[in-house]
Amino acid sequence: MHSDREIVTIDGSAGEGGGQVLRTALALSMVTGKAFRIENIRARRAKPGLARQHLVAVEAAATVSRAFVHGASLGSTQLYFEPVTAVPGNYFFDIGSAGSTSLVIQTLLPAVLFTPGSWQIELVGGTHNPLAPPVDFLQKTFLPLLRCMGARVEIELIRPGFYPAGGGRVILRAEGISRLQPLQLCRRGNFRRRVAWAAVANLPLHIARREVDTLRRLLDLAPSETAVYNWEAYGPGNVVVVELEYENITEVFTGFGERGKPAERVAEEVADQVTRYLATEAPVGEYLADQLLIPLGLVGEGKFCTVPLSSHAQTNMEIIRYFLDVDWEVVRLDDRRHEVRVQGRAGA
Ligand code: ATP
Repeated sequence: MHSDREIVTIDGSAGEGGGQVLRTALALSMVTGKAFRIENIRARRAKPGLARQHLVAVEAAATVSRAFVHGASLGSTQLYFEPVTAVPGNYFFDIGSAGSTSLVIQTLLPAVLFTPGSWQIELVGGTHNPLAPPVDFLQKTFLPLLRCMGARVEIELIRPGFYPAGGGRVILRAEGISRLQPLQLCRRGNFRRRVAWAAVANLPLHIARREVDTLRRLLDLAPSETAVYNWEAYGPGNVVVVELEYENITEVFTGFGERGKPAERVAEEVADQVTRYLATEAPVGEYLADQLLIPLGLVGEGKFCTVPLSSHAQTNMEIIRYFLDVDWEVVRLDDRRHEVRVQGRAGA
């Protein structure tokens, strides 16, 4: 099975040492056709190795790119992945737990965007998970920027899924094309609107009302800028979201209700994120920054202005360079604003 082509070797404990290293490697292996071997997968996490969500990401990547894989089992700390070619079409992946569907989408998306043809990928799992992009973030923040770059991609939320019950359902639809336009995102542009909302599933609606009341007070919102929703899902769940819409970007800030944590506290934490974002003029927030790096790297040209980079983003830059011949430049504009530039080397 092993061909004599170039094999990228990655130490999964490098930098952040989490699942992102694996997801970025899978995503770029599928697009570039480079095989890779990774050791020490998620070495810096409390439970190292492949968890259910990572395993589904590997399986989904292998299915879509007809890959030869070795080491894909729960808890595995080593993996060999050799893609053949990404094949557009209709796919269905069930995470089988409340693991994040967005993180599987994050893995597949570059291949989907850059392989010409029609794609429809349906996923079952979590749609609103802490420590992962909620589907609202993909719909309102990330995908619109990809569409600005020329991508034809959308996500539909069929049913929300929360930890621990899962069972959420989303459909990703796209028309892949071979080339995207560079992104230049240095200013937010004019402010358009803001909205704060909270949703509960199988929990009392007063939780969402208290959250929205707290946000109204802390962010000085008008009643018309707020909403509460009662969602249908398989288990209990609660999400709080603030969306800030500008001409060039919509940023989405999220918090999750937890047993034993007062609703007011959940809302306060979301308000803190919003206040921090408003204290700088950078359009790109912390999470979006690490997610924009892959499309930017694949285009090999472009720049964005962001808050100081997380270690997550810095690790992502390193891993991207294993697969793509690009140079990153990070320029500090002031304490709260950095500019990230990418340049593909000649012939890359
Ligand atoms: P693990 O090792 O457990 O898989 P990880 O280090 O790979 O974790 P995280 O650090 O949890 O992964 O980050 C996963 C991804 O989710 C990152 O791309 C991050 O930008 C994104 N993310 C996390 N929280 C949010 C949020 N609130 N909004 C948008 N994106 C988010």
